Amino acid sequence: MELEHVIGLEVHVELLTKTKAYCSCKNEFGAMPNTNCCPVCMGFPGTLPALNREAVSHAIRAGLAFGCKINRISRQDRKNYFYPDLPKGYQITQYDIPLCSGGAVEIQTGGQTRRIRLSRIHIEEDAGKLIHDGAGTLLDFNRSGVPLIEIVTEPDLRSAEEAGIFLETLRQILIYLGVTDGKMQEGSIRCDVNVSVREEGSRDYGVRCEMKNVNTFHGAQRAIEYEIKRQEALIRSGGEVEPESRRWDDEAGKSFVMRTKENAADYRYFPEANVIPIVVEDKWIEEIRAQISELPREKKQRYTSDWGLCEYEAGLLVSSKPFAEYFEQTVSMGAEPKEASEWCLGALSKLLNAHKLPYDAIPVPPANLAKLIALIHQGAISESAAKKVLGQMFESGEEPEGLIVRMGLGQINEEKVLSQWVSEVIGENSKAVLDYRSGKKSAMGYLMGQVMKKSGGRANPSKASQILREALAQV
Ligand code: ADP
Ligand code: ZN
Ligand code: MG
Repeated sequence: MELEHVIGLEVHVELLTKTKAYCSCKNEFGAMPNTNCCPVCMGFPGTLPALNREAVSHAIRAGLAFGCKINRISRQDRKNYFYPDLPKGYQITQYDIPLCSGGAVEIQTGGQTRRIRLSRIHIEEDAGKLIHDGAGTLLDFNRSGVPLIEIVTEPDLRSAEEAGIFLETLRQILIYLGVTDGKMQEGSIRCDVNVSVREEGSRDYGVRCEMKNVNTFHGAQRAIEYEIKRQEALIRSGGEVEPESRRWDDEAGKSFVMRTKENAADYRYFPEANVIPIVVEDKWIEEIRAQISELPREKKQRYTSDWGLCEYEAGLLVSSKPFAEYFEQTVSMGAEPKEASEWCLGALSKLLNAHKLPYDAIPVPPANLAKLIALIHQGAISESAAKKVLGQMFESGEEPEGLIVRMGLGQINEEKVLSQWVSEVIGENSKAVLDYRSGKKSAMGYLMGQVMKKSGGRANPSKASQILREALAQV
């Protein structure tokens, strides 16, 4: 029996807003525990939540980018459950009428485009954080009431690898949209993973298990692989998969059953009467649509078709929005796209790695990189010397012209000086000269290397090689 794997994801994304979803506390990661809370997000009786407009606007922007239907009126509901990180005893979320319905995310797998349908995107609030230390458990409510969107896919994914690509693609687009900072290490994106297996070709879905709150994309893939193996083994040995909620333990590389899968009735959903419905006017939607800038796939397309870059380098450039913007600014300052790309992906990326700097903190202004590239074209500096200059520009933020002079790296074009070096090299390397004259043309490369060495890498290579060739032809 051939088995097919069916995966659906519920992705929770922390929104990049100044304040929380229902109060004016700061939405900020890493503050002293319990300093960003108030009676509203701590769930004190008698307090009234008021929905953050910025959070709704982020959610709509995401919905538009994925082609969802934006529901003009949607409702907020209470999802009731007890857990120490949820002081209100319920989470404000959206149940039967979400803000966005439908839509899809297109992903590239093995040279193919696959459409992963979304069932919905809704708005909800985050819970606090439990911190388990050796002695016991501590509670930090700074995260209580942080605005989230939950993006729910249809069960359209077919492997752990596909789920990984989906999550990466989703994250990249959401960062481009400015919806989230996407910082995995800060828990900005977390997901629940649903897995089932079924006989290949079957129309019906198998019974699914759900793994909650997986913190990394790698963890999500491992959790899926583990669950697929577990369910396959169960089925092949004649057993049946039980609908369960399981806890993924990344360290152990295993999941453990938490409880039988809850269903909607367990949560006693009912309308949140303390907040009014979300009403979205067409005008607002159009304003938000106008804010959506070029997304990574469109950028990549433009780089390859208009600027002649290959798929691979275009993909690397668009992988980070600030990096892509840096590259584009370098081009707009006059650099050839192909060359700008080589400098960005080569020397500049190396420096960023060495200094452990992120793409949004490149200390060389794009105008200066463009200038440096232009100076190579003008013959003012060789390419290898330019790399040294870039290193210094990176350290000090200075402009290239002054540095070239100060570092003594300007290219030497004067015929007199070049001829002097050439005749010295010919005098000192009689064996190579003889080899060359007896027909061993490769000796030319060696002699040229000696000229460059003598010049400290500063000789204009094309002029110097011409002079060397002429000198060797004489005598
Ligand atoms: P719940 O909130 O109880 O988890 P949802 O209807 O919101 O239920 O579904 C959650 C996720 O489960 C969705 O991403 C959906 O694609 C996925 N899913 C539903 N059925 C299956 C299945 N048989 N196998 C794998 N995933 C499934
Ligand atoms: Zn608050
Ligand atoms: Mg679920």
